[in-house]
Amino acid sequence: MAQRYKDGLPYANYNAMDAHFKALKRTTHPHWNMLPSQAVQQELMRIDDAYQQFFDKLGGRPHIKRRHKFKSITYPGTAGWKIEDNRMTITFRKWNPDTRKWQFDKVPFTFFKHREWHGSIRRVTVKRDACGDYWLCITTNFVDTDPLPTTGKSVGADFGMKDAYLTLSTGEKKQHPQPLKQSLKKLRHLNKALSRKQKGSNSWWCAVRQIARLYRKVSNQRKDFHWKLATELCEKFDTIVIETLNLDGMKRLWGRKVSDLAFYQFVEILRYKCSKHKRFLREVDQWTATTKPCSDCGFHNENLTLKDRQWTCPECGSHHDRDINAAINILRAGIATP
Ligand SMILES: [Zn+2]
Repeated sequence: MAQRYKDGLPYANYNAMDAHFKALKRTTHPHWNMLPSQAVQQELMRIDDAYQQFFDKLGGRPHIKRRHKFKSITYPGTAGWKIEDNRMTITFRKWNPDTRKWQFDKVPFTFFKHREWHGSIRRVTVKRDACGDYWLCITTNFVDTDPLPTTGKSVGADFGMKDAYLTLSTGEKKQHPQPLKQSLKKLRHLNKALSRKQKGSNSWWCAVRQIARLYRKVSNQRKDFHWKLATELCEKFDTIVIETLNLDGMKRLWGRKVSDLAFYQFVEILRYKCSKHKRFLREVDQWTATTKPCSDCGFHNENLTLKDRQWTCPECGSHHDRDINAAINILRAGIATP
C-alpha cells in the first residue's frame, strides 16, 4: 500500500487487495496458504476500514504491522474453527509433499472456560497479550439486559482531578485508587532490573514479562474499580448526568494522571451499564457553565479560579464546595434538556 502511494498510484480497495493477495499466494508467497482464508479476509477488511477512515479525515495514516507484531486473529462466522466444551479446533492448511497439495490441518487447543456464553457465536478472536498469554474472545448475538427497579432519583456527576475522582450532586465524593501511582515504585524497580540485563537474553525476556504482568494488574485494578462504581451508580439512580469530557485539555494540564484515572474508559463502561440496566445517561456539553454559577441563586462567580476549592456566594451567602456545586449544576442542566 505504501509502495503504491510512493508510486503515485490510486488507493487499491478491498477487492483489489484481495485479488492481489490471492495472486501472491499462488506465486511468491505460497506459505500464506497456511493461514485460514476467512481470517485473512477479515484482516484485509480491517486495513481497508482504516484507510477509508484515513481518507475521510477521521484517523491517522494506518500502520501496516509486521508479521510478529500481530496480536490477534479473528474468525468471522463459523468457518475455520469449532468449539466443544473447553476445546477449540482451528483449521490451518498444510503442504503435503506426497500428494503435492495443500490439505486441511486441524489443530486442537484446550482453554480454560471461565464463563458460559449465551446466544449463537458470531465471531471468535484469539488474542495474545503483552504477558504472552492467549485469550479467546467470543462475540455472540446475545443482548445482555437486566433492567433494575426504578429508584426515582437522578444524579449529576462531576469528574475531578484534585479532591475526588467523581463528585456526586448528593455531596458524595468517590476516590480513585490510582493503581499506576501505587505501583510506580515497583515498576521503577523492575525497569532498573530490566536495564541491567542483556537485551534479548532469557532473563531479559523474563523481566519484560514481569513488567507486562504488572501493567496488566494495574489495568485490571482500574477496570475493577470502574465496573464497581458504574454498578453502584446504576443501582442508586435512574438518570445519571455527566459532563462531556475534554480529554485533550485535561492531558495538557495533568499528564500521566489522566491516563491513570482513565475517565474515558469509565464513561464507556457506564454507558454500557446504563443500557444494560435501562438507565438514562445524559451528557452536558462542555460549553455549559457548571463551575461558576451558584447552585442556589444562579449568580455567576467570575472571580473563581482553579485554586478555589471552597467559596461563598456574595449574592446569597451560601457556602459551596466547588465540585459539589458543579455536580448540582450538571444535574440541573442535564434535566433541563430533553
Ligand atoms: Zn448564590
